[in-house]
Amino acid sequence: MKRTNLLAATALVLVLACSAGAAPKIKALIIDGQNNHDWKSTTPLLKKMLEETGLFSVDVATSPPKGGDMSGFKPDFAAYRLVLSNYNGTDWPEETKQAFEAFVRNGGGFIVYHASDNPFRNWKEYNEMIGLGGWEGRNEKDGPYFHWRDGMLAADEAPGPGGHHGKAHPFKVTIRNASHPITRGLPEEWMHVTDELYDKMRGPGKNMTVLATGYADPATGGIGEHEPLLLTITYGKGRVFHTMLGHGPEAISCVGFIATLQRGAEWAATGKVTQKVPGDSPTADRISTRQ
Ligand code: ZN
Repeated sequence: MKRTNLLAATALVLVLACSAGAAPKIKALIIDGQNNHDWKSTTPLLKKMLEETGLFSVDVATSPPKGGDMSGFKPDFAAYRLVLSNYNGTDWPEETKQAFEAFVRNGGGFIVYHASDNPFRNWKEYNEMIGLGGWEGRNEKDGPYFHWRDGMLAADEAPGPGGHHGKAHPFKVTIRNASHPITRGLPEEWMHVTDELYDKMRGPGKNMTVLATGYADPATGGIGEHEPLLLTITYGKGRVFHTMLGHGPEAISCVGFIATLQRGAEWAATGKVTQKVPGDSPTADRISTRQ
């Protein structure tokens, strides 16, 4: 065999060996472009977290800025198995909304991240997907408040605005469902870094499972209730993981945030979690962050 042919054959064997060894990546899409939060800093960090699992290849679809022409904003949701929203902005075109509904209904995974539970108050299907939402004028017409009382989720029909948080501070996250694939094996209580603790969230709360709560302490401006912070929702054949945590880069440096996001992403995309519990998880009295 000539040397050039030998090299070509060797290269071919290497290519085959590599492609046989690595499972194809799950295609994921992050949506951003409008948000009253620092999406330009958080999107690259979220992208890195998903890619670090070795499971995902991640694209980003950035919408026109607020006030821009949204008519051409049509991400190809159907090309992905997971969509993570880092978007809190103006309405999407009708065609985009319908494509997104079809994506989740047909079995797509969806991650609702922090303020992406704020927009689209008048989009009924979106509110069913996120389970709970806040701000944007939400009130009792959008569904009850939900609190964790006496070991179970309780709907509260009291009237009033939806969506509120006290002063950002470190707080304890308490797992309320330790048998779910996302939370299995994680510490049942862990200290989260300084972040906003959303309370008074409202919504239809249909097909919703609360995985973890935080106590909205009146001492830091909270409402004195244990509030849902990590949720799953099923919508059609689709799986939704909703994390209310993660106001900014510091908040998402928490290993508890990272682990639940990575595990939530795998679960939303596949229905299973194969990732190990991280060895540097926070504990009930010790924060743990990664830079
Ligand atoms: Zn925030």
